[in-house]
Amino acid sequence: MRAVLIVCDGLGDRPTRALNGLTPLQAARAETLSRLAEHGECGIIDVIAPGQPPGSDTAHLALFGYDPFRVYPGRGAFEALGVGIELSAGDVAFRCNFATVNDDWVIVDRRAGRINSEEARALAEALNDIRIDKVDGVQAIFYHSSEHRGALVLRGEGLSRMVSDVDAHKAGVKAHMPRPLEDTIEARRTAVALQEFVEKAHKILKDHPINRQRVEKGLPPANALLPRGAGTLPRIEPITKLWGIRAAAIAGGGLYKGVAKAVGFDLINVPGATGTVNTNLGGKVEAAIKALGEYDFVFLHIKATDSVSHDKNPHRKVEVIEWISRELTPLVKTVLDKGYYIALTGDHTTPCEVGDHTGDPVPLVIAGPGVRRDGIGKFDEISCAKGGIGRIRGIDLMRILMNYLGKVPLFGE
Ligand code: ZN
Ligand code: ZN
Repeated sequence: MRAVLIVCDGLGDRPTRALNGLTPLQAARAETLSRLAEHGECGIIDVIAPGQPPGSDTAHLALFGYDPFRVYPGRGAFEALGVGIELSAGDVAFRCNFATVNDDWVIVDRRAGRINSEEARALAEALNDIRIDKVDGVQAIFYHSSEHRGALVLRGEGLSRMVSDVDAHKAGVKAHMPRPLEDTIEARRTAVALQEFVEKAHKILKDHPINRQRVEKGLPPANALLPRGAGTLPRIEPITKLWGIRAAAIAGGGLYKGVAKAVGFDLINVPGATGTVNTNLGGKVEAAIKALGEYDFVFLHIKATDSVSHDKNPHRKVEVIEWISRELTPLVKTVLDKGYYIALTGDHTTPCEVGDHTGDPVPLVIAGPGVRRDGIGKFDEISCAKGGIGRIRGIDLMRILMNYLGKVPLFGE
């Protein structure tokens, strides 16, 4: 028995004035999604807890069956795993921006004029030789990912993710020097090592030939790194062991690949899967169909619904939903023909009128053999709320799916 879980990021929405009071899902003509609802049982999910706006990382932990309040290890490690960095237990990873600061460390541009990948990669190479002298046994490794983005890994004994961000998250103010966020030796050691790295990086970057050229051309120099979001690997039982399944993930965005990798999914790379509205969704769907031949459980992530919601573009969200529905048609057909299971939901609500994540529940449909059809014929927030699954928490979803796969042991005699 096999199952596929499709998560459309930021899928949920609210009644929208520009759509005559409908949600984008209600306004969309999405035949395949309606067909799924007809064949399945519907409900709504409070992904973290009722009213709690989820980040995408905590939301996915919950949908994969983990309690994010207990196991969330900060965002940094997910980002690092997502760009292909191998992390070990004890590593502390940070997301980083190349940025422009003035002589007083006031942030002039958080993205150094969105420096291109080629220049940023050359700058990253110059940071390879930085040694941490003030803390024994700690090594700093910096990786460039794309454009102005990168990841920093501090490796060594006795480090902690409880350190504050260097990034002030806005321009015009001073970058923060890292502080320990708890009174432990580990947090203090990490803050000292991070500060030393950031200061040494600044010294190297400000005199780098690439930055001299940028200044000559009138471009902001990428003269500082602004680490943020310290994180470690989560201390959890991998999803494969927990349920006794082979599990594969298909995603474009680095964060989603990172969360999936951290909980034990195999990553399947699809050319052209970019984590944007221009992604190769057809290729991802094809890869999901193929993966169902080898894996018990396949996770497919689609980012575009969230991107257009942050852009506050409800008409575009309707189009994106209709496009996703069309592209999913062969996958839904395969799953229903073969008698596999399929679940489709979002990781949170991102109302187009708000442009950010909110704590409203998201719609859910599950279809497959033996699922109790509940007579709901349309997949949207309002229709699904009347469905047989009712209202559940994100953490419940995996057990419901694994029950259909016969993977949940009996509790009691
Ligand atoms: Zn999300
Ligand atoms: Zn978002």
